[in-house]
This record gives sequence, structure tokens and C-alpha cells, in this order.
Amino acid sequence: MGQIKLNQVTKSFGETQVIPPLDLTIEDGEFTVFVGPSGCGKSTLLRLIAGLEDITSGHIEIDGADATNVPPAKRGLAMVFQSYALYPHMSVRKNIAFPMKMAGVPEDEQKRRIEGAAKALNLTDYLDRKPGQLSGGQRQRVAIGRSIVREPSAFLFDEPLSNLDAALRVGMRLEISELHERLKTTMIYVTHDQVEAMTMADKIVVLRAGFIEQVGSPLDLYHAPRNEFVAGFIGSPK
Ligand code: ADP
Ligand code: MG
Repeated sequence: MGQIKLNQVTKSFGETQVIPPLDLTIEDGEFTVFVGPSGCGKSTLLRLIAGLEDITSGHIEIDGADATNVPPAKRGLAMVFQSYALYPHMSVRKNIAFPMKMAGVPEDEQKRRIEGAAKALNLTDYLDRKPGQLSGGQRQRVAIGRSIVREPSAFLFDEPLSNLDAALRVGMRLEISELHERLKTTMIYVTHDQVEAMTMADKIVVLRAGFIEQVGSPLDLYHAPRNEFVAGFIGSPK
């Protein structure tokens, strides 16, 4: 399960409303990309869904239940942070185990989940290394592994590849898409990169200044952009 519904959600910081009333449904199993220029509210929206920021008004539903006041750790969602959020002094195995240890998952279950995640991410041979002994792409996979073992109903990614060089980014895009194919878990992926949006998404949400300009598949947006902004951003033919 992993359906997420936003009903008339708004967010203000002080006097400034950065998210005007917004409605959005993300279906279970969908790969949804939030795309838009820097400062348009992508991270804020993701953090509202994760519960890392309180919404100012409106409601958030997860799998049909009101989650508006549910604390982040109880929402069943996993925010994937950039690879630099790993603990440098811990092995890959311990980095991946850490969230389960905190949640009190029994040791044998921890072991089962670590092996599953390592297999899904091609990290089996690297479990005893420290993050410093890994490539950027491998470190990013460990960061994802730490989320997988929590068996979330959705993964939330905030520009997870922005620290990687161009070649690595291409590979990691493929790996994340492949992971989605394998797990079939809801994923919400934030990027300002049109190519990433167009190549990875089932559904794209185009944001401008906190507003949703258009929601649709990459082909919908390409062939039938609703306005000049979407056309320009997606690169539709004139
Ligand atoms: P994006 O991720 O699309 O670049 P953000 O969600 O980070 O955009 O920011 C959206 C707007 O909200 C920006 O104008 C930003 O300055 C503002 N903002 C974000 N977080 C805060 C905060 N904690 N306090 C005040 N303003 C914020
Ligand atoms: Mg951002």
C-alpha cells in the first residue's frame, strides 16, 4: 500500500505562503516526479508529505487514513537522503542496520532484510566496507538500502543525485528505476532536471511558485502541455 492524498494543503513560512491550496493524489505503486525551477516548493511539498514540516492547513491522507497529525516516523514513508548522510565510522552493514536497530527490529529479521536490500542493490560484496571505501554511486545505494530495510509504503527522494557527477547520475537513474520495477513501491522523486523527470516518471507534477501547473505522464506533457511554461520547461516542440 502507498496511496498518498493531499487535500487543500497549504504551507506558509511566517507571512509568506509558499504552497497555495493544493490537491494531489499519488496512486499506490506510482513513480511520481515533482519537477520545477529552484525555489518553486518541491522540497517543501516533500517534507510536508514526510511530516518533517507541519502543514499550515488542509489534510494529508496515507492509504485512506488521515495522517495530518501523524509524526514522521509513524507515517510508513522513507525519505532517502543524499549519500553523504552515511555514518563514516560504521560498515555498510551497520549503516543499513541502524534504522532497524533504532526501531527494535529483532536481529535475525535485521539480517534477512539487510541481505534482501544488499541483493536488490548489488551491495552484497560491500557489506563489510566503510563508506570511505566506496564509490559515490555505491554510497548512494547504501543510503537507499537504509530506507529499503524499513519496508516503507513509499520512498521520498529529494534530488538524490545532485552530488554525483554526470556519468554516475545516468547510472543511478537507471538503478532507481530498476529498483522501482523490482519493488513496485510508490516513489516520489524531486528534481529540477527535466531529463530526469521525463525518463523516470510514470506521472510528472510540474510546479511553479507552489502551484501545480500540470499533472500527467511524460507523453501527455510533451504532446499536450497546458501552457507556455510547461511547454518551455518540458521542451515540447513549438
Ligand atoms: P525547491 O525545493 O523547489 O527549490 P523549496 O521548497 O526549498 O523549493 O522552497 C520553496 C520556497 O519556500 C522558497 O521561496 C524558500 O525560500 C522558502 N522556504 C523553504 N523553507 C523555508 C523555511 N524553513 N523558512 C522560510 N522559507 C522557506
Ligand atoms: Mg529543493
